[in-house]
Parts: sequence; C-alpha cells; structure tokens
Amino acid sequence: MAVITGASQGIGYACALVLAEAGASVVLGSRNAGKLRTVAAGIEGAGGRAIPLALDVSSPASVQEAIGEVIKTWSKIDILVNNAGITKDNLLMRMKPEDWETVLKTNLEGPYQCIRAVLPGMVRQRYGRIINIASVVAQTGNPGQANYVASKAGLIGLTKAVAAEVASRNITVNAVAPGFIATAMTEKLPEPVRQKILSLIPLRRIGAGKDVASAVRFLASEEAGYITGHCLNVNGGLYMG
Ligand code: NAP
Repeated sequence: MAVITGASQGIGYACALVLAEAGASVVLGSRNAGKLRTVAAGIEGAGGRAIPLALDVSSPASVQEAIGEVIKTWSKIDILVNNAGITKDNLLMRMKPEDWETVLKTNLEGPYQCIRAVLPGMVRQRYGRIINIASVVAQTGNPGQANYVASKAGLIGLTKAVAAEVASRNITVNAVAPGFIATAMTEKLPEPVRQKILSLIPLRRIGAGKDVASAVRFLASEEAGYITGHCLNVNGGLYMG
C-alpha cells in the first residue's frame, strides 16, 4: 500500500499513476475529496487499485485521523510519498507572517506529521520507503520564495535525519528535488519568465510530472534498497549539485 499526498493533480497524480502501474495499491490524499474520487476512478479504470483519502496535511489531527483510517482498514503502509505542497510567494519584507506560517505548516510540518503517522507500522514490519518531494530552489535559493525555500531545505534536512534514525529497521528515506515541472503550480508564470527559465535548463525542456514520478518509482522499489538519505535531482540539469 502506497500513500501519496497531494495526489489530486500534478506531480502527485503522476506518482500515483506510475506506482499503480507498477502494481502498488495507491491511497490518494488531498483536501478535495471530489477530485480524488475522479482521479481514483481513472486509475481503477486503467486496471489499478486506488483509494481516495480526504486529508489536510497542515492539520496534525487530520493527518492522524486519515492515516489511522488507512492503517485500520488495510493494516500496512509500505510507501509514503510526501508530495503535497503550496507556494505563497512574496519578497521577505512584504511577506505576511501567515503566508510564512501556512507554507511551513503544509510543506514541512505536513511531511513530519505524515512520517510520524506511518513510522510505527513501518518499524514493526521492518520495511518502508519514504520519499519527500523537495525542490531545486532548496539548493539554489530563490528571491520571493523565502518561505517555500526554507520549507523545502528543511524537508531535505528532515529526510537525512530520519533516514539515519530508521535505517536499522530497513526503512529508507529519500528526497526528490524537481526543477521546473509543468503543473498548476508553475502555469501562472508569465511567458517571459518561463522562457528565461527554459534557457537555463541544459536539457532544453520543461519537465513533466512523469519525469518526477519515474524517480519516485525507483526510490520506492526494492532495487533502491541501498539508497537512503539521498536527494535526487530531477531538473534537466538546471542545478548540478
Ligand atoms: P500542484 O499541481 O499545485 O498540486 C499540489 C497538490 O497538493 C494538490 O493535489 C493539492 O490538492 C495538494 N495539497 C495542497 N495543500 C494541501 C494540504 N494542506 N493537504 C493536502 N493536500 C494538499 O503542485 P505540483 O506542481 O504538482 O507540486 C507537487 C509537489 O512538487 C509540491 O510539494 C511542490 O512544492 C513540488 N515541486 C513542484 C515543482 C514544479 O515545478 N511544479 C518544482 C519543485 C517542487 P488539494 O488542493 O485538493 O488539497
């Protein structure tokens, strides 16, 4: 059983599709239950197994309740993909404290709460794969995104710390750092900005959700069992760290 947060669209949806194709039963988490039902029906229609799960990762109570429900019903979670994330961009001097707080709560505390909810079961079964979706800007910085960059850099740190804590239980914890991927999150960017970013990408194309999902599928696989605490760049060469 794989739980993917933020699976109603974009990268999370691509991860759910790819993991379902690889044979995993997928639990699709986000705040929008209606959208999740449609996505789950699409995956089931294609021969996969998908369960919609309404949850708000910025609410510890919602995470505990939703993950608790999954464990009660299906008894085990092998894979957690912490993908749900938001942006609320502004220059730091203009950023409202609530925009700082909401982004940190969703992008960093959300994964912490989800990891906390799934770890006891993974420790008991002596198996687990946790994949956190970070961002290239955690490595490069980006003006106007202090809250987002701090949340994603924190997520990479969280990945490494937890990886070290649970490695002896055969649980791997890794991050994937996407570059510029075509989703709702990036479609609002003005065309000149998009062209500027494109000119900086050595592979000369904007990424697709599937590019990130393929990396997630690998890290979630048995074959990736000797990789932990790693941050895998999926950015077309935009940053080579
Ligand atoms: P997206 O299209 O905006 O999708 C975000 C997903 O997160 C949606 O399914 C949304 O569903 C869910 N979500 C947001 N807040 C939530 C909450 N509080 N609780 C539960 N679910 C929540 O974004 P995306 O581009 O696919 O991004 C996915 C991840 O990749 C994010 O962590 C993002 O930071 C990261 N990333 C994206 C890019 C890029 O270029 N697109 C680059 C680097 C990193 P609901 O609204 O239904 O809750």
